[in-house]
Amino acid sequence: MNEAETVLSYLYNCRRTDLYLRRHDKLGKDKAAILCGIFKRRLKGEPLGYLLGQTEFMGLNFKITADVLLPRQDTEILVETALEKIKSLKKEIKVLDIGTGSGCVAISLVKFTPHIKVTATDISLKAIELAKQNAVLNLVKEKIEFICCDLFPGHPSPVTSDQNFDVIVSNPPYIPSKEINLLQEEVQHEPRIALDGGKDGLDYYRRIIKEAPRFLKDNGHLLFEIGIGQAAGVRKITEDSGNFMVEEVVRDYSGIERVLILKNLGTLLKPIGDLSLA
Ligand code: GLN
Repeated sequence: MNEAETVLSYLYNCRRTDLYLRRHDKLGKDKAAILCGIFKRRLKGEPLGYLLGQTEFMGLNFKITADVLLPRQDTEILVETALEKIKSLKKEIKVLDIGTGSGCVAISLVKFTPHIKVTATDISLKAIELAKQNAVLNLVKEKIEFICCDLFPGHPSPVTSDQNFDVIVSNPPYIPSKEINLLQEEVQHEPRIALDGGKDGLDYYRRIIKEAPRFLKDNGHLLFEIGIGQAAGVRKITEDSGNFMVEEVVRDYSGIERVLILKNLGTLLKPIGDLSLA
């Protein structure tokens, strides 16, 4: 749906196809005033999702505020890849979504795979509150536990069996700090905390890869969305960690490496450790 269609279906409260199939009266004064307001702010670079307070992701509706990143098509690749992985596991599984923001990843996963339980975390309380509202809106409130924390639940207290996940997914902040100001105007309206991945953009991959083994079952999977050109850097962090191997790199529809699937090497490594201690 292009932006004009999005605004008109919002104002007429109808589906995109109905814009073309049904006759519509002229916009009344009130709605015309709303439209003018939207135009003015949009021309100043504010993203449409923030102006309408809502957006679509994976065909679902999400309430959006400027406290969270706007869900992007790139991230649908992460969800589709995670759905394939989860479906192939064919059992009741536990998923952790790190940095959930609006909740779009966690909610889509639950919506399309009934046999999972999801925990979703975010360091921003405002994001967690919004994600909870989105879970209610999408009728999956019972299936997701939302926790406001720094990456991992309960951190740094000991891990409980509830935190032993089969799959961890994350679209962490990954823009190098100095590059944020160079990005398009729309991005400048988004929360910096959701974008800034430190000097080289890879800080959160380092932290998650280092800490994830405590929260992941042996042979569990870690799925990351990555930025353009970051695959080699994240692969190096993965290999240096000794805890994971890169199982697959998934490209988006433009051929850009967009999602990395890492496999936890788990106990495969432990005998070597034990021998060296002996
Ligand atoms: N994909 C976003 C962008 O390029 C960044 C999202 C992120 O940092 N996780 O603007």
